[in-house]
Amino acid sequence: MKILVLGGGFAGLEAAIKLRKYGYEVTLISDRDYMFIYPVSIWIPVGKRSFKDTQLSLYDMQKKHGFNLLIEKITKIDIENQKIETDKNTHDYDYLFIALGMGKVQMKGKENTHSICGLPEESLVIKEQLENLIAKGHGDITVGFGGNPKDPTATAVRGGPAFELLFNISLYLKEKGLRDQFKLTFFAPMDEPGKRMGQRAYDKMDGFFKHYHTETHFGKKIKEFTDKAIVFADDTELKSDLTLFIAGGEGMDLIKNTTLPLNKAGFIEINELCRVEGSKNVYAIGDGAAIIDHPWAAKQGHVAEVMADISTYNFNNKIKHIGRRKSYWEKLHIVCVMDSGDGAAFVIRTRKKEIMIPLPVVGHWMKKGWGWYYRQTKMKRMFRIPGM
Ligand SMILES: Cc1cc2nc3c(=O)[nH]c(=O)nc-3n(C[C@H](O)[C@H](O)[C@H](O)COP(=O)(O)OP(=O)(O)OC[C@H]3O[C@@H](n4cnc5c(N)ncnc54)[C@H](O)[C@@H]3O)c2cc1C
Repeated sequence: MKILVLGGGFAGLEAAIKLRKYGYEVTLISDRDYMFIYPVSIWIPVGKRSFKDTQLSLYDMQKKHGFNLLIEKITKIDIENQKIETDKNTHDYDYLFIALGMGKVQMKGKENTHSICGLPEESLVIKEQLENLIAKGHGDITVGFGGNPKDPTATAVRGGPAFELLFNISLYLKEKGLRDQFKLTFFAPMDEPGKRMGQRAYDKMDGFFKHYHTETHFGKKIKEFTDKAIVFADDTELKSDLTLFIAGGEGMDLIKNTTLPLNKAGFIEINELCRVEGSKNVYAIGDGAAIIDHPWAAKQGHVAEVMADISTYNFNNKIKHIGRRKSYWEKLHIVCVMDSGDGAAFVIRTRKKEIMIPLPVVGHWMKKGWGWYYRQTKMKRMFRIPGM
């Protein structure tokens, strides 16, 4: 039986590990030889974490967990013929786990922006651009995020890292004694950015903006980005020397060019078991899978891991003719520690609950500790606490 896992991020790595635990031979294909630990990459631009420390070597993971590893760029997913084409080879499969992440909505003038949610190397470009501006001694920095009008439930809006980057940059400038020389503005086209974390969390954001002396600019559709400004639909402009923008998520082109069932935003339609709708042997997990019926939910690293866990459990029971199945919906919730450099806010949101607890100082160290814990558990040096 040939099992392929496509992608070596949160979802793909966890799926390969779980499949090995169930005793299957499995091959993971990734275009990078490392997993990028995105949640802690927010500290790369402000020099509090190195690019190298934000990577988890897939070769090390292969040695620890015993899966086969191919570092190849996937160019075509041929569902009818059960074949995966890469820049180096063609691979057959009997069972497929698609965990390739998501693409981003294309916007006019995007080349004048940088995203902390893009390719890993982009975090280094942001660092370089920030240092260049600091060397000048003054400037306007804007940080924001957008949505995808085609995404019916807006689960692919990624706002948390924008807030984290904004507050961390503010603190970084303050530590350099330069805070007053820079204007920092948070911008978003929606009226209430951050509301996905829940009403209570949203209400507390004002306090954060005040504390970190950042201006806000909400509720105006973005027309384009230029090298000097953000231009809005009403042709007003927000001056910007450095624009850090996270576009809304959408399905990757690679996925759009398949016969997989997709929603309007290009995400793969799956059932509660994480199996692709209408398919018997293909699972889709992580950011690339469409979350339905839970409009308050968000695509997150821990959701990607939950999907990996659920899909492999259901797959194993199917193969071994065990009747039990699990639904990822039962474990769906938003949980995040939103870092601000010298503190954090702990956010939990479920269908019924909304909690936000400001955690000065200790919250920052909690998030730093999580990065260390994640690496140790993946290297099998520590026991994994369920759900964390
Ligand atoms: C800056 C930032 C901060 C975040 N903070 C948090 C947080 O605090 N908490 C939280 O829960 N979530 C957080 N997230 C979200 C979390 O990182 C994502 O939800 C998670 O990475 C999704 O996992 P994934 O495996 O679906 O995709 P990814 O992690 O994006 O992995 C996709 C994989 O597919 C591979 N791939 C893509 N295309 C190809 C191809 N053509 N050929 C071969 N391989 C390919 C990539 O190399 C990668 O290995 C954050 C995200 C960002 C960007």
